[in-house]
Amino acid sequence: MKYSKIEWTEATWNPSTGCNKVSAGCKNCYAETMAKRLQAMGAPGYENGFEFTLMPERLEMPLKIKKPTKFFVNSMSDLFHEKMPFDFLDQVFQVIERTPQHSYQILTKREQILQDYCQQRKMPDNVWLGVSVESAKTKHRIDVLRDIPARIRFLSIEPLIAEVGELDLRGIHWVIVGGESGPKARPMRPEWATKVQKQCAEQNVAFFFKQWGAWGADGVKRSKKANGRLFLGREWNEEPAAKLVQ
Ligand code: SF4
Repeated sequence: MKYSKIEWTEATWNPSTGCNKVSAGCKNCYAETMAKRLQAMGAPGYENGFEFTLMPERLEMPLKIKKPTKFFVNSMSDLFHEKMPFDFLDQVFQVIERTPQHSYQILTKREQILQDYCQQRKMPDNVWLGVSVESAKTKHRIDVLRDIPARIRFLSIEPLIAEVGELDLRGIHWVIVGGESGPKARPMRPEWATKVQKQCAEQNVAFFFKQWGAWGADGVKRSKKANGRLFLGREWNEEPAAKLVQ
């Protein structure tokens, strides 16, 4: 069952909300726009707008779902935010361990905090661990991720806002690429995405093309829906090898 509009997941689970910007990929953060909108609407959990806030009342949500579900953890925050206490993170990972029927996709731009946390703890097998890489300037996150023991490691190259260059994909199982959406979106040049896809094919890594976003392959700005998901003439929905996902 698909509960989330995000193309590469099935549902979202936000044990915290809010965040603050750490790199160029954050400039037009979707979560910030959404949090402010939800705050204005008086939605529970968004009383603080986009300020980092723990949501202990949401901790047990996955325990109530029996059907195996792929969760994106913290679509509205960063699980490894500076203000996230490690003992709260331990509670998040206890829920993950108690629900082996689910998979949990965890994506961060705070690779140093992720690394610190993982020095003392082991990632459960049902975790897919990822870092965002929006340009060549943030490629160092890949090297940190590669050294963390996890069953599945992935990259979210979204929004792809500049050429990323050569990628060392050793130890990486999945790469997502996408362009930026929203009124202030920056364009993704087709050759940047093609270069990533080619390297995934060469290094035997699953490739998922999420969207063009606001700018089409032809460099024209239009709706995200109109630009669609076709890339090099097809949809790319590859996922990490089945033997890893089981
Ligand atoms: S790390 Fe993610 S959630 Fe936080 S500001 Fe950046 S894009 Fe937004």
